[in-house]
Amino acid sequence: MEIARSLRANPASGMGDAPLNSICAASELVDHLTLHQAALTDLRRELHACPELGYKEVQTASTIAQRLRAIGVDEIHQGIAGTGIVAVLRGEKGDGPTVGLRAELDALAMEEANEVPWRSKRSGKMHACGHDGHMAALVGAMGYLARHRQFPGKICAIFQPAEEGGAGAKAMIAEGLLERFALSSVYSIHNAPWIPFGEVVANAGPMMAAADRLEILIEGGGGHGGIPHKGTDAILAAAAVIQSVQSIVSRSIDPLDAAVVSFGGVSAGSMEQYNVLPRCVRMIGTVRTFRPEVQDLIEDLLHRTAANTASAFGARAVVKFMRRYPATINAPEKAAIALSAAERLFGAEKARKEMPPSTAGEDFSFMLQALPGAYIWLGQGTGEQSESLHSPRYDFDDRLIVPAAALFVRIAQEELAPRQA
Ligand SMILES: [Zn+2]
Ligand SMILES: [Zn+2]
Repeated sequence: MEIARSLRANPASGMGDAPLNSICAASELVDHLTLHQAALTDLRRELHACPELGYKEVQTASTIAQRLRAIGVDEIHQGIAGTGIVAVLRGEKGDGPTVGLRAELDALAMEEANEVPWRSKRSGKMHACGHDGHMAALVGAMGYLARHRQFPGKICAIFQPAEEGGAGAKAMIAEGLLERFALSSVYSIHNAPWIPFGEVVANAGPMMAAADRLEILIEGGGGHGGIPHKGTDAILAAAAVIQSVQSIVSRSIDPLDAAVVSFGGVSAGSMEQYNVLPRCVRMIGTVRTFRPEVQDLIEDLLHRTAANTASAFGARAVVKFMRRYPATINAPEKAAIALSAAERLFGAEKARKEMPPSTAGEDFSFMLQALPGAYIWLGQGTGEQSESLHSPRYDFDDRLIVPAAALFVRIAQEELAPRQA
């Protein structure tokens, strides 16, 4: 990335040449965050250099807790769902609701291909989803809010483990996150390389799909490949099942609803044995949906279609539908708060209300099932050269730390003290 390269060439450079000043309206908030930008950039790069996988973010959590302590938050609760942290800030205006602001602690199991001074020092681990940047931004936001407490209620910074497949958000909820801190709403910001730099998207509804796992076992009697009429051909039954379940999305789901059924693996028999009909076939795949009603319908139809199709071939189908991450669905009134905060900070042209949702999945969906809130994309796209999330050449763009921190702050203020914001 051209811009990223210029930043890397001069890691100590401030925000003077970056588009922050052009995307953030001048304010005391932006001045404050800009003052701390170099320290937040250092923190982001320190976290980037030492990535840790889900539920093993021990050093990351300890670095974050240390920074929060230095900021002077009122309470720090560590060890929630293993490595999770909640930091609490009380406002000076008495009782009120509690807003949760969330960032992720974990990195991915992959090798970094970047050659930057802050490149991962841990072989086979990398911050390729920008969670390092989200953490730095949330620390920056808490630093400002700790010194500007003219709000009622509380603000909780939530640093969760294991977003990348480990359902850390669900694990924190299971350990009492929502009740213990009496959260009334929750927000998360994720960088988005496919969206132009500095643009903010918060749909009044689905942001990401439910990502479920599908397993189908086809059981037949097996038999001799040369004498098929005396046995049961599980492979033929499985082939028919693969074909017939594709009719679920095309024939039974409203064309205006998006859904995906994909098989990712099929396993049967032995490549050493050409003349045996195997007894069973195992298939795995994924189902993506945006509405719970569509998810329920597809699960039902998978059971029915697979069982009836297999039965026509004298075989039996056992379907396992494992609900992994639900759809990430924003509460419209909370998406409106996020966009209003973005508009005031960056201008109306940067706040985009709607964008087609992504068929990727996100465990913030568990928090949004339990509480009203919003998942927000903050664009870091700089043209065709922007590396996608989870690419070995991806790197969080440090110029986004201050805008992301400012957005967290303004959202919390609009939630708790709209007039002051
Ligand atoms: Zn990711
Ligand atoms: Zn991510």
